[in-house]
Amino acid sequence: MLTDYHMHLRPDDPGTEPEQYFTPENVDRYLKAAGEAGIEELGVSEHVHRFRQSLGIWDHPFWLQSAQDDLDGYAEFVRETPLRLGIEMDYVAGREDRIANLLEAYEFDYVIGSVHFVRDSAVDYDVWDIWEQVGDPDRVWELYFSTLAEAARSGLFDVLAHPDLVKVWGSGRPQPERDRRFYYERAVEAIGESGIAVEVSTAGLRKPVGEIYPSREFAEMCVDAGAAFSLSSDAHVPEHIGFAYDQALEAMHEWDIGEVAVFEGRERRLEPLGRTGAPASAEPAG
Ligand SMILES: [Zn+2]
Ligand SMILES: [Zn+2]
Repeated sequence: MLTDYHMHLRPDDPGTEPEQYFTPENVDRYLKAAGEAGIEELGVSEHVHRFRQSLGIWDHPFWLQSAQDDLDGYAEFVRETPLRLGIEMDYVAGREDRIANLLEAYEFDYVIGSVHFVRDSAVDYDVWDIWEQVGDPDRVWELYFSTLAEAARSGLFDVLAHPDLVKVWGSGRPQPERDRRFYYERAVEAIGESGIAVEVSTAGLRKPVGEIYPSREFAEMCVDAGAAFSLSSDAHVPEHIGFAYDQALEAMHEWDIGEVAVFEGRERRLEPLGRTGAPASAEPAG
């Protein structure tokens, strides 16, 4: 089985209206790309902050400017397609009850939890750059991974997105001095205790860092902690569905990950990890 659950039907840029992208024709483009890549489980996880309903959770200026669309309309549209219904929900510390209330109002198949912001600063958005706000890169990594641990422990999410997103800029930001495993450790403990699935995301290969999320060391620590894994591209265009899955599958094999998480109605099951380019059902048995 191959999945692509963390994907978006449109780019993040302003002016990408639902009328233009939440259409059967656009979904067909994604389904066709998934079919060609041998991906059997395809789901969409739009950013919560693109929807007006998110303003009941947080009023960060970035959310105020991006929260334009109607979440009810999105959920209703996706239900009329073969796609699984997901959402990419930011973890906002201290707003757990508000997040839970929003999630309960919709029948999602899965909820992907993301840490893009730590307090008011962003790890992957240079307008709110956390290195400018915090300075010391070791402090940045400590803040990021302790927030990731809180997100895992919150119990709000099925999947932890791009788990070492803090590396996104690669050498474009100052690097921490301490061994990275020191920072991974606190998140891995929370991942093990919470049972949340860890996302293997090929999006990092398209970013300055040029690496899969998570790093090998982080992934192996998660394996040792007994974590489950999901597999996604974080595509924002159909061409990126199943992006670089051959690399991801090779890495997962090396990390001793043999199963992938599959979701329906927020219930998880594990399926044997498939191979790229062909549906798992077409593989020889054994
Ligand atoms: Zn994200
Ligand atoms: Zn995303």
